[in-house]
Amino acid sequence: MSDPHALLSQVFGFDAFRPGQAEIVEAVTAGRDVLAIMPTGGGKSLCFQLPALCRDGLTVVISPLIALMRDQVRALQEAGVAAGALTSGNTEEETEAVWQAIDAGDLKLLYIAPERLASTATERMLKRANCTLIAVDEAHCVSQWGHDFRPDYLRIGELRQSLGVPLAAFTATADEQTRDEMVRRLFAAPPEVFLHGFDRPNLALAFEPKNSPRAQILSFAAARKGQSGIVYCGTRSKTEGLARALTEAGHSACHYHAGMDPDDRRLVETRFQQEDGLIVVATVAFGMGIDKPDIRWVAHADLPKSVEGYYQEIGRAGRDGAPADTLTLFGSDDIRFRRQQIDEGLAPPEMKAADHGRLNALLGLAEAQVCRRVTLLAFFGEDAAPCGNCDLCAKPPELFDATTEVRKALSAMLRTEERFGTGHLIDVLLGAETDKTRRFGHDALPTFGCGRDIPKPQWQAIFRQMMGLDLVRPDPERHGALRFMEAARPVLRGEASVTLRRDTIKRAERRPAVKQ
Ligand code: ADP
Ligand code: ZN
Repeated sequence: MSDPHALLSQVFGFDAFRPGQAEIVEAVTAGRDVLAIMPTGGGKSLCFQLPALCRDGLTVVISPLIALMRDQVRALQEAGVAAGALTSGNTEEETEAVWQAIDAGDLKLLYIAPERLASTATERMLKRANCTLIAVDEAHCVSQWGHDFRPDYLRIGELRQSLGVPLAAFTATADEQTRDEMVRRLFAAPPEVFLHGFDRPNLALAFEPKNSPRAQILSFAAARKGQSGIVYCGTRSKTEGLARALTEAGHSACHYHAGMDPDDRRLVETRFQQEDGLIVVATVAFGMGIDKPDIRWVAHADLPKSVEGYYQEIGRAGRDGAPADTLTLFGSDDIRFRRQQIDEGLAPPEMKAADHGRLNALLGLAEAQVCRRVTLLAFFGEDAAPCGNCDLCAKPPELFDATTEVRKALSAMLRTEERFGTGHLIDVLLGAETDKTRRFGHDALPTFGCGRDIPKPQWQAIFRQMMGLDLVRPDPERHGALRFMEAARPVLRGEASVTLRRDTIKRAERRPAVKQ
């Protein structure tokens, strides 16, 4: 076996491992089953490429991203590594060369597309090629609740069993449900789990309730005049309006979205890359191929899609390691819009329920009770100490024991059999004589009017925070009716207490127009 450190510089040209890489390389090289969770750009591929070179035999790499596979193979071949790929994009000569290398017994890394796993010929070929390790890239594709589900990934477990070799799985997706599913479907016994590198300490984190979004973004940009930044918007039309407003305020700004002419888009990408101090106001379509190290700020004019989306988008700032600022605006309209999008989508009900849970996690981050970075990293499963570089560290929110209020809300749900949404539940709590409360006989419930001491906007804030704590989720099959999550039961039974943020509730009081 060769020395990984020597190969690191000889083959890959790197002086040192990135944080986390050395441990993963060691475990994979030693032939232990591994699940490694690292952020995008963290350097996952090295963690299977290097062990492949250190080990006897062939390492098969399963990846759904054909273009990426081809890039990696090309880079490996240029570095003198015997690597090949079998994908639908191959020419006949390429495929022939791969087979020859397999027959000669000198191929070290073979990339295959998941579709290949459907054929029994693949398994025979891998046995013949002396395959001694399976590496799975984008391992979250095995999760049926995720959005990247690849049915062929379900065959990987069988392949591992029939080859009788160790397996190393890699992903940037870290939520608990996906992680459990990866472990269950890919491995026979729990693997060694590595989770590293999600923290980006140079990024300052902040959220603000969306009061007057345009003014908020303008003032954020004004404080960073002349710096390169990105503003993410939820819709295409908004990107254009906001870019115009920024230009009028004296910034150099342009818009970008997937509906634009490809040439115009490329022009914006090139300008952003080359010019100093350009602001791009964009939908999430912007950023994938952007490799600009000195983006000094990222703002979200609308709530992002998920915590993962948020993380990726803010992560484009400060790649050079120098301080960078982020600001995310969130409002009740965003939340309602996102809920509606989920309910009206075509996904199966279980996935919709999981999506409501993902949105809850984002609300939990928006109205976090402790350091925002601690909350964010906890989502990825990483521990951290309060960072001193977020809005909540700068100004810790005032918390209060809201057990009584939350129990009232939960018991209103219970009495109405979890069949109603926030609006009606609040009517019940307030004792509002509406058609609906009368029609369902809810005006006769013991909970009817038990929350009269608290005004409606405050109840809305309480329900929102209850979702952020994932105590309740809207039921996609019942038009947003709230359902209990497991964590709500001990509260209802009087065995657990609940702490909420006072400030968001106060704010609701000042702004009675806010609706859930
Ligand atoms: P991902 O985790 O997204 O798959 P990659 O494996 O593509 O990330 O790596 C991201 C970038 O980091 C690549 O450009 C890669 O060459 C670089 N990289 C990986 N490991 C190291 C290292 N130890 N030192 C320097 N650069 C590295
Ligand atoms: Zn903090």
